[in-house]
Amino acid sequence: TSIVLLGSGAREHALAWKLTRDGATVHTLPGNAGTPGSHPEISATDFPAIKAFCEEKGVQLIVVGPEAPLAAGVTDFFQGSGIRVFGPGRAGATLESSKVWSKDFMRRHGVATAQAWPFRSDKMDAARAKAAELNGQVVVKFDGLAAGKGVYVCSSVEEAHAALDDLARLHSGWFSFLLEEKLTGPEISIIGITDGNRIRLLAPSQDHKQLLAHDQGPNTGGMGAYCPVPFCDDNILSAIRQDIIDPTLRGLQNEQFEFRGFLYFGIMLTPQGPKLLEYNTRLGDPEAEVLLPALESSLLELIEATLDGKLQQTVVRQRRGHYVGVVLASDGYPASSFPTGFPITGLDQLHPSILAFHGATRRTEAGELVTNGGRVLVLVGHGEELEDAVQHVYREAEKVQFEGRYIRPDIGQRPEPEGIF
Ligand code: ATP
Repeated sequence: TSIVLLGSGAREHALAWKLTRDGATVHTLPGNAGTPGSHPEISATDFPAIKAFCEEKGVQLIVVGPEAPLAAGVTDFFQGSGIRVFGPGRAGATLESSKVWSKDFMRRHGVATAQAWPFRSDKMDAARAKAAELNGQVVVKFDGLAAGKGVYVCSSVEEAHAALDDLARLHSGWFSFLLEEKLTGPEISIIGITDGNRIRLLAPSQDHKQLLAHDQGPNTGGMGAYCPVPFCDDNILSAIRQDIIDPTLRGLQNEQFEFRGFLYFGIMLTPQGPKLLEYNTRLGDPEAEVLLPALESSLLELIEATLDGKLQQTVVRQRRGHYVGVVLASDGYPASSFPTGFPITGLDQLHPSILAFHGATRRTEAGELVTNGGRVLVLVGHGEELEDAVQHVYREAEKVQFEGRYIRPDIGQRPEPEGIF
């Protein structure tokens, strides 16, 4: 099978790695210096160029990594073309691309989630009053895709009002947003493969969004992840199934969504039970980089079964042990600009059991591997115990160097929460 894989990050490198092991030939558009068959001149949202490429290479299957091509309608574009796309159509992608819409969907179908109040930008005064009424214990969420930068978790009325001012400053013209009840508890990511009727779950995972140790500093795209999550036992998983996943699938069926792809549930385990914070309609990054090595089953077979409507006949097998992925980032990330283009050394020194997925890397004309953005590489270690995997990956990460390289020091080392619900 020949596959076109859309995207350019370490998630896509992990997808390409897995699909290649499963026997596929992978072309990554646009890809990076580590991904097989990269074509930097073809963007993941240039659908006519992607179509021409597929026709030229005889490719009949497209797998989508990031959200942008899904929200731009890649699946709808290829409908009826003979080229199949693994990923939801534009309507299904709205579960991620509009927070107001997805909150409504959760409410319609009884999915456990935080209470929320939608507002339009012309109702700022009402939003300020609501935030004050809730003592500022709110989360302000911009409605559209904001690359992880549209959410403000507030702890006082002043903070909430400042967040609303910030929204108004960043988005000129008309926009929507949510004020949401602020919840507490540990977060986990549950990601599955669904055909809209059934779902096959990958291991529970946790990412580490903040830049600095102990969840301090600004939010990033994610500084690392690990799986499985030791405290996420069968009791917790069955509550998540019952309160979140099953009502979601019933909702997809009732509303007759065509949804064939990855579905991601960002969940907070509150004292009142699991609550859904958000859907993503794709694999998480960096969750993918640990989930795909942990997956023993063929991803290619799961994808084909999903598209053939045969997901019911599949089982998902996981490998034993624990996987920890740490991001090697550029100094300055996640600011909007910082220097890049620094040579990367030491990848050839890594222990053979370490996986190195490229994110923001490129090759210079002279063939040198250099940094090309914020999240440069993700190194993944495996161990019988979580602690083994952590030690192994951090020891090995020392070998890979570039100017300004930053690694968050506590990936996979959160203290176990006590008495969740
Ligand atoms: P992502 O980068 O995962 O796509 P996002 O920007 O789309 O994130 P959310 O996942 O909805 O936004 O929220 C980001 C983070 O904000 C969550 O991981 C969580 O830590 C926090 N958060 C969101 N909603 C709430 C809530 N109701 N109560 C407390 N914290 C919340």
